Amino acid sequence: MVMRAAESVLRSYWDGLLPVKPDIIAEKMGIEVRPLDPTWDPGLSGIAETTPYGVKIIGYNPNDYHGRIRFTIAHELGHHVLGHTAKNGTCYRDTPDNYSSYEDKWLELDANKFAAEILMPHDAVRVMIERKGISETYELARIFDVSEPAMYWRLKNLNYI
Ligand SMILES: [Zn+2]
Repeated sequence: MVMRAAESVLRSYWDGLLPVKPDIIAEKMGIEVRPLDPTWDPGLSGIAETTPYGVKIIGYNPNDYHGRIRFTIAHELGHHVLGHTAKNGTCYRDTPDNYSSYEDKWLELDANKFAAEILMPHDAVRVMIERKGISETYELARIFDVSEPAMYWRLKNLNYI
């Protein structure tokens, strides 16, 4: 379900270029992407909110490093696309812990799976490895513009490592 939702978003809104730009995809979907005010809530990395008026918003912490912000936006996009914010007035508030939760937080886990597929689409990973012969994790991380640990886990989940 999560994979299919991510694939469908990529098919409709991705220009096919790497690295994938989750902020551009979100904006094409009519979701507003904006920086949070970190002094207002310093522990927060991101939010996915549907306002009481039905406006969908993604917020990210502008003080986070580049790769984290990209992952945050993709993760929050997941909350929206997967219907977690379907009800007006709902808001997911994510601390950094939510991006590495592999346990009992199913909605966070789903949003993380969604983010991995958006930032590192499995077809694109396959092309890079099998057709272009690129196998070094650091080089793939550079191409997809993600952190090396994120790339490592993606390769592991796709059974390349
Ligand atoms: Zn989340």
